[in-house]
Amino acid sequence: MVDLLELESYTNNLLDIKRFRDYAPNGLQVEGKSEVKTIVTGVTASQKLLDAAVEAGADAVIVHHGYFWKNESPVIRGMKKRRIMTLLKHNISLFGYHLPLDAHPELGNNARLGALLGISSEGVMDERELQSVGNIGTLADALSLEAFGERVGQVLQRKPLLVSGGDHPIRRIAWCTGGAQGYIDKAHELGADAYLSGEVSENTVHSARENGIHYIAAGHHATERYGVQALGEHLAGHLGLKHIHIDMDNPA
Ligand SMILES: [Zn+2]
Repeated sequence: MVDLLELESYTNNLLDIKRFRDYAPNGLQVEGKSEVKTIVTGVTASQKLLDAAVEAGADAVIVHHGYFWKNESPVIRGMKKRRIMTLLKHNISLFGYHLPLDAHPELGNNARLGALLGISSEGVMDERELQSVGNIGTLADALSLEAFGERVGQVLQRKPLLVSGGDHPIRRIAWCTGGAQGYIDKAHELGADAYLSGEVSENTVHSARENGIHYIAAGHHATERYGVQALGEHLAGHLGLKHIHIDMDNPA
């Protein structure tokens, strides 16, 4: 059992949240009971995840996609009301960690995904950028786009969308989980053979074809499952909490 505020300060320090200017508040977003025994982690604080967390007896829910995004309406009605009511009614806390959970060098989405795909990381995509979240690295053996796409599909259990940038094999690859397809030009500047992110836009395809860089859209949800899971395991081990990870499938 751990005090809620202790859990908050431990996790905020671990993920170094002060370093980030983010689109949503990082840390405790909705306050529940003051003592925490069981944590549930998931990618997004959807109604389905919250209902499963209630069922699992969670005291706190920790997600990558929480609430109160900069571009959304600040009023609490409809879907948002129902979600927040579920938390308050059951006295469950909600923690959201966005960019800090993408970027953490061990527990982060990018670090975990790179390790799962067999990429050894050279470092971040943009060293001048204090809150750079993308990584660049190399594969042990050069692979064709198709062979690497096969690996991605097996690891993530989801078929990726592949956009060919030419006939070259992939050795050096840049990646950034989630909706970071816009970094494809940065990946090209860094001399990567391929770039992987979660989503794809119409213009990503043109960048890939015209700059000769392969593009792999591996799924926003699928690429962001692993950071929050690693964080939950870390917190369970260090603070003696019970941790349950709940994956709510999302094809996007
Ligand atoms: Zn995301």
